[in-house]
Amino acid sequence: MTNGREEKVRRSVEVRLGDRSYTIQIGHRILGSLGQTVRNLDRVSQVFIIADSNVAEPHGRLARESLEAEGIRTEFLTVPPGEVSKSIDMAVQLWRELIIRGADRRSFVVALGGGMVGDLAGFVAATYARGVPFFQVPTSLLAQVDSSVGGKVAVNLPEAKNMVGVFYQPRGVLIDIATLDTLPEREYLSGLAEVVKYGVILDGEFFAFLEANTEGLRRRDPELLQVVVERCCRLKADIVEQDEREETGLRAVLNYGHTFGHAIETLTGYEAFLHGEAVAMGMMCAARLAERLGMIGPDLFQRQQNLLKALELPTKLPKLDISSMLAVMRHDKKAQAGQLRFVLPRSLGHVELVGGVPGEIVQQVLEEMMA
Ligand code: NAD
Repeated sequence: MTNGREEKVRRSVEVRLGDRSYTIQIGHRILGSLGQTVRNLDRVSQVFIIADSNVAEPHGRLARESLEAEGIRTEFLTVPPGEVSKSIDMAVQLWRELIIRGADRRSFVVALGGGMVGDLAGFVAATYARGVPFFQVPTSLLAQVDSSVGGKVAVNLPEAKNMVGVFYQPRGVLIDIATLDTLPEREYLSGLAEVVKYGVILDGEFFAFLEANTEGLRRRDPELLQVVVERCCRLKADIVEQDEREETGLRAVLNYGHTFGHAIETLTGYEAFLHGEAVAMGMMCAARLAERLGMIGPDLFQRQQNLLKALELPTKLPKLDISSMLAVMRHDKKAQAGQLRFVLPRSLGHVELVGGVPGEIVQQVLEEMMA
């Protein structure tokens, strides 16, 4: 069914996890094929679409019509936008809505939205009735290249983000690049930081491709974005396939820039910067630290800085209290016994987890990056 819109599935990425394997479909204007895709997956009794109001408004109708055209009863559960909805209170509300509206083990939960909705809806699907099938339709760039792939779902506690959650793979992912048309500019650019991250940590050739296409990226060229999203999903899937539950340490490479980035977010109360902006600054700190430790020459730092700048992302830190930053980083998930550990580049496309980094060197790097 076409809903009057061009509809082609152009690319797909397989996530190979044995009986939890699934396909990520990527295309432009393919949201109208959601119903068919879900129908082909399983015998489905009904679908509950969880979305926030920013996304339900522009994209909800097409998603719902597509499901109903396949004869699938579809209901909407809309939550307020923003990280505040990723809470256990909201999960309780959604669990109760599901039971009131008669959800059973064959009801699908579809997350239509950014990473917040994906994590929340996934958590609700994983826990309701000990798990009902879950499907992702990511609509922010961050969700399309990162959070919808890999099966990490969670809600936040007031004390810590993503603290209560599970690994729960979706039955499938459908990425419609056209949904990005309504994404606010700052959110879009912030998602590009994670795209750059993949180039630095895993794929130097992809990094060069991004350098050559900054103009197309800034204007959200749909053809280009399909290539970019596909590559990012493939790179993340490769990692997830080898370390699904973060047991071998491999998946930690995805945290490049995040130790510094989380400290920046924490000290600014999660308000001044979007996640990708903090990650961009964090990647600049990590590259400078790698340089100071003699792991890389000046070229990588410079190229990363040029690319981030070309994508209108921040590369310098605001003035923050350095001892507080060090304290936050010592309690980071990757820190061990208060030792500072970072994911640092060795060359473009390769990173290493480096422990025992002296606090004085990190302090010098922070002073320099805030200057
Ligand atoms: P988000 O879901 O809050 O979306 C950002 C903003 O964009 C929101 O206001 C949302 O309503 C709006 N939006 C999304 N898509 C839109 C569209 N197409 N049109 C108009 N508005 C749209 O945030 P995000 O940046 O997508 O994701 C951040 C979340 O993802 C965090 O909760 C983070 O913890 C989580 N995350 C999870 C993983 C994982 O592996 N599970 C990985 C990275 C991040």
